[in-house]
Amino acid sequence: MNEEGEVREGGCLCGGVRYQSIGAARWQAACHCRFCQRLTGSVLNAEVVFLKEHVLLTGAEPKIYGYRSPDHARMINVHFCPECGVAVGLTFERFPLVWAILSGTYDDPGWIQMDKHIFSISAMPWMAYSESTDVYSGHQLKMDGTLEQPVRKRGAEDLSFNTTDVKLQK
Ligand SMILES: [Zn+2]
Ligand SMILES: [Zn+2]
Repeated sequence: MNEEGEVREGGCLCGGVRYQSIGAARWQAACHCRFCQRLTGSVLNAEVVFLKEHVLLTGAEPKIYGYRSPDHARMINVHFCPECGVAVGLTFERFPLVWAILSGTYDDPGWIQMDKHIFSISAMPWMAYSESTDVYSGHQLKMDGTLEQPVRKRGAEDLSFNTTDVKLQK
């Protein structure tokens, strides 16, 4: 986790879109939903979420692609480089105060700790989770803003746990 006030930098592949994040992230999550899989072209989106005022865009202006979630019908805005196409961040109609950085775009992403996995329901069947993470089958928050129960709490003893087990418990 980054320290109070620490400035971290990142950007897209071509270097046109650049950003800084300031201070500690509000939360971080590895999301395995189908949107995030398509968005990243990979199997999960490890996102680091900051208050908007703690993310500064310092390079070219990203383009915005608006995607309406089929889950909750609210907009998710993808901020991407118009030149190389790399998405560096997300903003959400549902969570208007925050900016989620796609963590692989940090210049040095090695500091990032994921403390939860969400949408294990659509995770790859070979995905395994470390004992330091909570695992949720879908969103962490219900539509009324209260917390869902994780399908596995961090520190759970069964380290052989995998997504097959999660799917059985949903
Ligand atoms: Zn670029
Ligand atoms: Zn997702």
